[in-house]
Amino acid sequence: MRAMLLRQVVSLDEVDTPLELVDLPVPEPRPGEVLIRVSTCGVCHTELDEIEGRTAPLRMPVILGHEVIGRVEALGDGVTKWRPGDRVGVGWIHSSSGEPDENVCPEFRATGRDANGGYAEFMTVPEAYAYSIPGAFTDTQAAPLLCAGAVGYRALKLTNIKDGNLLGLTGFGGSAHLVLQAAKRLFPNTKTFVFARDPAAREFALELGATWAGDTTERSPQQLHAVIDTTPAWKPVVEALKNLRPSGRLVINAIRKQDADKDCLLNVSYHEHLWMEREIKSVANVTRQDIAEFLPLAARIPITPRVETYNLEDANRALIELKHHPVKGAKVLVIGG
Ligand SMILES: [Zn+2]
Repeated sequence: MRAMLLRQVVSLDEVDTPLELVDLPVPEPRPGEVLIRVSTCGVCHTELDEIEGRTAPLRMPVILGHEVIGRVEALGDGVTKWRPGDRVGVGWIHSSSGEPDENVCPEFRATGRDANGGYAEFMTVPEAYAYSIPGAFTDTQAAPLLCAGAVGYRALKLTNIKDGNLLGLTGFGGSAHLVLQAAKRLFPNTKTFVFARDPAAREFALELGATWAGDTTERSPQQLHAVIDTTPAWKPVVEALKNLRPSGRLVINAIRKQDADKDCLLNVSYHEHLWMEREIKSVANVTRQDIAEFLPLAARIPITPRVETYNLEDANRALIELKHHPVKGAKVLVIGG
């Protein structure tokens, strides 16, 4: 099978082709696993963290990719949930304890980091960690729902907002544009305020129904009950804290943060940014339950993912563009027919 392989941690400032196109044997599904013929795989910020070593793979070489859509090709012994030909998706959680806290327990293994992922024509996954994809979505549209959408949905739940509360989103890319649509459906009276550096991203947010959109450093016209941060940087965190009302909560939806602007944390003033019971909470990743809840919800809304497609061989270009250019929507690799 064709696969894009990561052999070692590299800096994307020095190397712009971190992945190598290789030909590998098709993996065999082990007992309890399904073999999936991959059709599309989303490109996530976390891949940049894996390549650059902020969340380094356990073993090398590895095939990245955790927003996978495909068809069940073959069943390992004992598989009962799926039949060959079923359309399934795989997210960032590749296997875990199965307990309610499975996303933060030591058994957690990540797709495309601790196990081979979807930047390839085939991959395997335990049957319980594959999900049925609602018919409303094409394979290309469905891919970003598996991580950007599902982790975004978990972040939205972790804000604890109620209908009518004011919600902020800082950073407006693959995840936030899906969260905005989910928030409008789940909390119809909630106004959403979007903070983004890129004017095109702000315009896109307003198109999707944001009440207000401004630059990352702008003050929100109203103080917010919660803000979700999906940026790789620290400055938006500091800015978001200023926009929280007392008891407000900032939810950081990022697997890793980059160190480049870490200095701005020295500007945090206890009085201005934290006092009055303001809180900061991180999102670790997702449980099976989050993905299983989110997919049918996304179809009911219906969420319209905006996607930009690339061939598997162009994965390096997709990653470099994700790192350096503002994203309007989500990037997806088209792999098989
Ligand atoms: Zn992801």
